[in-house]
Amino acid sequence: MPNEILYTSVNAQTKLLCLLGNPISHSFSPPVMNALISFYNLNFCYLAFAPNDLKKAIEGLKEINFLGANITIPFKENILPLCDSVDQLVEEIKAINTIWFDGEKLQGYNTDIDGIRSALTDYIDQIGSYAVFGAGGAARALCVALKNKNGILVNRTEAKGKKLAEEFGLEYISLTDSPKIVPDIDLIVNATPVGMAGQTVSTIVPTSWIKKCTFVFDMVYNPSVTKLVEQAIEYHKNVISGVKMFLSQAAKAFSTWTSLEPDLEIMRSIWREITN
Ligand code: NAP
Repeated sequence: MPNEILYTSVNAQTKLLCLLGNPISHSFSPPVMNALISFYNLNFCYLAFAPNDLKKAIEGLKEINFLGANITIPFKENILPLCDSVDQLVEEIKAINTIWFDGEKLQGYNTDIDGIRSALTDYIDQIGSYAVFGAGGAARALCVALKNKNGILVNRTEAKGKKLAEEFGLEYISLTDSPKIVPDIDLIVNATPVGMAGQTVSTIVPTSWIKKCTFVFDMVYNPSVTKLVEQAIEYHKNVISGVKMFLSQAAKAFSTWTSLEPDLEIMRSIWREITN
């Protein structure tokens, strides 16, 4: 389904969207977005680029009338000063993953937080405390989503970890010290790329932590069953899926550009079609 539209409907009126990041070859955004475009029968097309210079890339997209883009690693923070306006959540998270060219104005949004909220929605009332591994944009979005809950932040780089922990009133624990303690927390979240296809290290969460918690949320969605998820299943924990986060953030980005609101069932069937 995603390929057919490229041959049959692309013309001079086609509205253009893309992913900007580096690397991008692993990304599922192009097939998911093109499948959504096809589902809604829109004359749109979604591409992917890995520019060296983000500012020049944005100027180029604006010049040739792109409608919008998703922004991924390493540009999620660098895009901020290039936007004319950002929403309130972006100001808190300080990272953007979706842009929209609204006429001459470039608007910035963060839909990762929508993905996180959707992934956690069934359990949020049962989560009193959490531990997050990572201190990048995804960890920051999680901290905003779980603001006012108690927690622990574990990060490889101490300065970055301590800074984020302090900002959200969390306890900082270094990655090397983490196996020495067993905290009493409800939810463990992996907000690092560890566990992703192609990574050499498969998990950084101590097994003792998994045994003690109730919920495990791995933001990594490729593979959908990571080593961390395998361990969580082995110890009979509730697993919160990175795939649900990915599909929900993609749906929100799509609705930013099109005003259509794909529900999770549509997204899931697209995911099954692409990954099977
Ligand atoms: P980021 O800003 O680059 O932050 C990455 C974080 O992971 C940093 O804190 C980094 O620690 C840590 N890290 C990286 N490699 C590590 C390693 N080998 N061992 C230990 N820690 C390591 O990235 P991000 O935007 O926050 O995204 C993080 C991950 O979340 C992504 O790779 C992706 O898997 C996932 N994600 C998923 C979705 C979804 O929709 N499911 C959306 C966004 C992100 P240092 O500070 O020490 O460098």
